[in-house]
This record gives sequence, structure tokens and C-alpha cells, in this order.
Amino acid sequence: MSPQYQAIYLSPHLDDAAFSCGGQIHARTQQGEHVLIVTLMADDPPQNSGQSAYIDALHERWQLAANAVAQRRAEDTAACRILGAEYLHLSFADCIYRMDGEKRPFYQSDQDIFGTIHPQEQTELVARLAEGIASLPPSKQIFAPLTVGNHVDHQLTRIAAEIVFSGRLLYYDEYPYARKKGAVEAVIKQESGWNAATIPLTKADTTAKIAAICAFRSQLSSFFENEADVAKKMEAYHRITGGEVVRSRSLGMSLK
Ligand SMILES: [Zn+2]
Repeated sequence: MSPQYQAIYLSPHLDDAAFSCGGQIHARTQQGEHVLIVTLMADDPPQNSGQSAYIDALHERWQLAANAVAQRRAEDTAACRILGAEYLHLSFADCIYRMDGEKRPFYQSDQDIFGTIHPQEQTELVARLAEGIASLPPSKQIFAPLTVGNHVDHQLTRIAAEIVFSGRLLYYDEYPYARKKGAVEAVIKQESGWNAATIPLTKADTTAKIAAICAFRSQLSSFFENEADVAKKMEAYHRITGGEVVRSRSLGMSLK
């Protein structure tokens, strides 16, 4: 039986796959391939979670309020439509909303979310994420984030995906973290045996990717000045990389 999808892209947050792989996803769907974008940390904040100053600051930057995640899911639906991909939103909360039994947040600052995974999340949450990933529909290829930038939710996604798919997992460089000089190399140098492929993008692929990124209206102010700046920065990034970069750790594995 042939797999249901040619490719599944695991996106820790609502936006990672579009920001990082939007061009290749558009190229695939234009050729008639079936692509699924799975966002893991797409759930609403837990009820009665309370608010921290850190959450308030992020919501203010995103210009979203109590229903922030619902609005971000709607943005993702619009972005997936532009890319021609199907979407699936799993029921895990973003790290900023996760807390221990006494309602103490695990992550309360930028330093926390780009640091190490909280000890209380290293086994139980990883197991639940792996269970969620294992229950996905069959796909010829599975892409996980490389963990450029070291966000804890990206680390958790990669660890869980490696439990389920081990040797056959493919990886993508995360934008915008990958545009920082040396950020990709900082991850790659931790292990040997990586091989990479650059997927060149047509003008149409790049245009669709930029439109999909602009669909994430709440996230733009964190990384861009305005919509024109998205196009400028994305084109500048593609000029350096030659397109979108995907990787594998098994030599000889097809990256196409
Ligand atoms: Zn992310």
C-alpha cells in the first residue's frame, strides 16, 4: 500500500514549517504530492493556568489576547491553504503555557525557552509527544526541526521524532534562527555524519512562501518590520543558502 502522504513536516509551533520549508512544500503540492504539516504545540493554554508577566509580554507583542492560540491556528490554516498542504494540530501547549503541579511555569524567559528542557519534561512529555507522532498517518518522508536556535519545543519535537523514526528521519534548518551566522554550524558540529541538500526554489515557490509567512500576522512583528520586509529578508536568505536546506544523518539516504 502506498503511503498516504509523500511528506509530513513536524512543526513545533504554528509557523515553523511555513517559515522554514514553505517553498519546498509549495513545490511538492504543485507537482501533485500530498503534504501534511503537523503542528505539535498547537493547543489552547490550560484552563486556569494564570498569566505570567512573560506570557503577557508575548501576547502584547503578538497583539493577541486570551484566545491567542485559536487565532494562531486560524493563521496556520490560511498559510497551509496558500502552500497547498493539509494541516493537523496536536494537543500540546506551547512551552510558555506549561507548568508543574503547583502551577509554576517551567519556562519564564527567553533564556529559559532557548535553554535546556526542564527536568520534569524530559521523560513524560517526550513519551507523550512520541506517542502523538507514532499515531500520524503513513508518509514516505518525515521532516523534523534540526533545533537551530535551541528552542526547547524544537528540542522536544526532534527527540520525540527520533524515538519514533530513528534512522529514517530528515531534518530542516529553522528560519529565522538559521539566518544568524554560525547558528546552523553550532548544531551540526555536535555530531558527525550529516549530509545536506539544498532545494532550489522557483519564483512561484518563493512568492507562495512569503504569502504564507505573511498569513502569520501575529508573528511578523517578532521577526520583520512589515510584509515588504518579509520578502526582502527571505530573498536575501535564499541568496545565501541557494534555497531551503534539508539534512539527514544516514549517508546515502535520499534527501529528495
Ligand atoms: Zn518554533
